[in-house]
Amino acid sequence: MRAYPAAAGKPSKIGIMGGTFDPIHFGHLLAAEESRSALGLDEVIFIPSGDPAHKRGRKIASPEDRYVMTLLTTLTNPKFTPSRIEIDRKAPSHTVDTLREMRRSYAPGAVVFYFITGLDAVLGITSWKEYESLPGLCSIVAVSRPGYAAQSLEFLPRQMREAIIPLEIPLLSISSTEIRERIKENRSIKYLLPEPVEQYIYKNGLYRKEPEV
Ligand code: ATP
Ligand code: MG
Repeated sequence: MRAYPAAAGKPSKIGIMGGTFDPIHFGHLLAAEESRSALGLDEVIFIPSGDPAHKRGRKIASPEDRYVMTLLTTLTNPKFTPSRIEIDRKAPSHTVDTLREMRRSYAPGAVVFYFITGLDAVLGITSWKEYESLPGLCSIVAVSRPGYAAQSLEFLPRQMREAIIPLEIPLLSISSTEIRERIKENRSIKYLLPEPVEQYIYKNGLYRKEPEV
C-alpha cells in the first residue's frame, strides 16, 4: 500500500490519465500537465489500457509496446508515473474497475482522484461500465479537444455534470489515429510526439503498412 504523507492532513491529489496510448503523443502530455497545474495535482499516473473494451476490431500495438512508450514519455517528468495496472489485468479494461483497484492501494482518505479525459471521450461517458459509480470515486477533468464543444456537456445526466470539471487547454490537433496514418504513408511524425517514442516506433516497426501478399 502506498501511504502518501498528506500535506497538512490534506489528502494528496492524484490525476489519472487513461488511454490506449497507441501511441502516446503531445496531446496526452499537454492534457496531463495543464490539469496538474490548474488543479494542483501532486502526481499524474498514466495508465495504458490492456484490452480496450471499446477498440476491439482494429489492430492495436501490444500492451507491452504501449506501456514502454508511456514509460519513455514519463521518464523525464518527476510528477508523471506510468502504471501497469490495466495491462497486467487479464480482463478488459474499464475505468470503474481501475479506480476501485487504485483506491485500494492507498490508505483510506489519503488521496482524492481526478480522472483526466478529453471532451471527445467524456461525451460518451454514459456508455462506460457502471458510469453512475464514477462520481463517487473521482472528479472528472474534461479537457478541451479540437472539434468538440464544451456546451455538449450540458446533455449529460446532472449527476455526471456535477462531477465534471471542464478545463480549457491550448488546442492541439494531434491524435494517435493521425500518427498511425502518417506512419503508414511514410509521412513525418516529428514534433507530434516525444522523440524517444518516435525512435521506439521506427526501431520496432510499429504501425507500418502490412506488406501486400
Ligand atoms: P485514437 O485516435 O487512437 O483514439 P487518441 O489520440 O484519441 O487516439 P487516446 O489514447 O484515445 O488517444 O486518448 C486518451 C485520452 O487522451 C482521451 O481522454 C482523449 O480524449 C485524450 N486526448 C487525446 N488526444 C488529445 C488531444 N490532442 N487534446 C486533448 N485530449 C486528448
Ligand atoms: Mg481516442
